Amino acid sequence: MRYSQMFLPTIKEIPSDAEVISHQLMLRAGMIRKLTSGVYSYLPLGYRVIRKVEQIIREEMNRAGAQEIFMPTVQPAELWKESGRWTFYGKELLRFRDRRDSECCLGPTHEEVVTDIVRNGVKSYRQLPQNLYQIQTKFRDEMRPRFGLMRCREFSMKDAYSFDADAESADISYQKMFTAYNRIFERCGLKFRPVEADTGSIGGSYSHEFLVIADSGEDGMAYCASCGYAANLEKAEIAKPENDVIPREPFAIEAPKLEEVCTPEVRTIEEVCAFLKVRPEDVIKTLVFSADGIPVAVLVRGDEEVNEIKVKNYLGCDVLEMAMDDMIQATAGSPRGFVGPVGIKCRVMADYSLQKLTYVVVGANKENYHWKNAKYGRDFEVEAFADLRVVRETDPCPRCAGDIRFARGIEVGHVFKLGTKYSKAMKAVYLDKNGKEQYLVMGCYGIGVGRTVAACIEQYHDENGIIWPLTIAPYEVIITPVNMNDRDLAAAAEKLYTDLLTQGVEVIIDDRDERAGVKFKDADLIGIPLRVTIGPKNLAAGKVEIKDKRTGEVSMVSVAAVKNFILSAIR
Ligand code: ATP
Ligand code: MG
Repeated sequence: MRYSQMFLPTIKEIPSDAEVISHQLMLRAGMIRKLTSGVYSYLPLGYRVIRKVEQIIREEMNRAGAQEIFMPTVQPAELWKESGRWTFYGKELLRFRDRRDSECCLGPTHEEVVTDIVRNGVKSYRQLPQNLYQIQTKFRDEMRPRFGLMRCREFSMKDAYSFDADAESADISYQKMFTAYNRIFERCGLKFRPVEADTGSIGGSYSHEFLVIADSGEDGMAYCASCGYAANLEKAEIAKPENDVIPREPFAIEAPKLEEVCTPEVRTIEEVCAFLKVRPEDVIKTLVFSADGIPVAVLVRGDEEVNEIKVKNYLGCDVLEMAMDDMIQATAGSPRGFVGPVGIKCRVMADYSLQKLTYVVVGANKENYHWKNAKYGRDFEVEAFADLRVVRETDPCPRCAGDIRFARGIEVGHVFKLGTKYSKAMKAVYLDKNGKEQYLVMGCYGIGVGRTVAACIEQYHDENGIIWPLTIAPYEVIITPVNMNDRDLAAAAEKLYTDLLTQGVEVIIDDRDERAGVKFKDADLIGIPLRVTIGPKNLAAGKVEIKDKRTGEVSMVSVAAVKNFILSAIR
């Protein structure tokens, strides 16, 4: 491609509305333009990268035995009502009516449509397993679209759906996708980690997210340096204590007695600790939740945080929310800030870490009061001890007791074992060997294409611009003659350009009548892996300079050898 003819509107200044580096660089490198909130056009340079990532995905999906299809964006409400998600999906689902007044939506995902296709197309176990995928535009009316292609409203997603006869076979399909995902992100040159992820309300199933390691990532992960355990922070387990039954020894007469203390306006753990001169570890934090409308109290140590996802999974409820003031008042008899387990009128769960506590400070369920020396088994009971808190970096690995480490990541892919959730709701069945109807066992597997590109830039950039891995770079080589008015330079550049094109190299020639400095700046910004600089002094000596942007390495190569040098660098 001739730079002079490219539509490549680069920007010098950092765009003020772009917070993360990938968003800034995609705008500056002329890859994307915003149309409206969370909706972007891909310009030529950006679209080439998108297409390369899509192609890698496509090749690996095909290799894993999945078959490509293409489903519509507009979907009828009926299917979503069948699955039950018309009510449950919430505002991310963009709904509208057509001229015949039929309810429709823009597909945020395609479980319903693909299940409808397969239930009509698969009759017998002989036709199984199947895995259908597409690379298609999704619309999700995200509450806070941000970070450019990282969290937008309209985006390209690869979504695959597997259909198996039974759970064992579904596990194999899942494993194939897991392997394919590893290959895809490796081929994109990314540093990533598959982590165990929460499966939400679809109990019994499992899932993995693929997180690209980046400080700007929205997800946290905990991983073990010894055994390779890795999980999203939402999911990361804490080992069950060896002794999870507390011995109920008789209480000594001299044991400290429950003591009421006046703590006016002292509500938070910090305030309680400062006022009573105790450590947060000596205080119990009592949180009241509404689980499907029923109050439940959860106790954790004052220095720890409740993990709401663990609580929700433990209770098996559909909706878990912090209780509103009136529910707290009705349950505890006191306002927020003074709630405790002694005499509270609801189910009480406690985190494992409370098993070690002896005499603790708790809210007194009375405004402006706390109890001191509260003791489990004497002053209050709990229904169960469980893993209900957020993991900490000092916790041992739940699998091998090794050291846990934290990192941040960007979720680029998600593999999910669905089981029979959709096939039951939508009656997607097949006939087994005995002619008996069985539900199809499903899996779903997504990759955000644009988010993968953004994640790549988060990992590979410097102060001057993007540094593309060769596999997804928009072009492999840029030829930069420092002065187009110097006939020898221009001729040498044109000759190399033609040679490389003939070899199938993806190459740009910067044939603009610009100063060398301007050309270098643009080449650095758009991040082409190899830059060939053709300058008068070197050329007089029969040489050109080749810079590898990824390593910073500069090589002087004779004009005669340059073509082979480049071919061996990129193949
Ligand atoms: P998130 O938790 O980030 O919202 P999700 O769990 O909703 O993601 P999935 O429904 O599993 O995501 O979608 C599959 C993939 O699609 C994600 O792994 C991600 O790469 C991509 N994706 C999801 N939402 C967006 C978005 N708003 N913008 C860009 N990519 C997205
Ligand atoms: Mg989402």
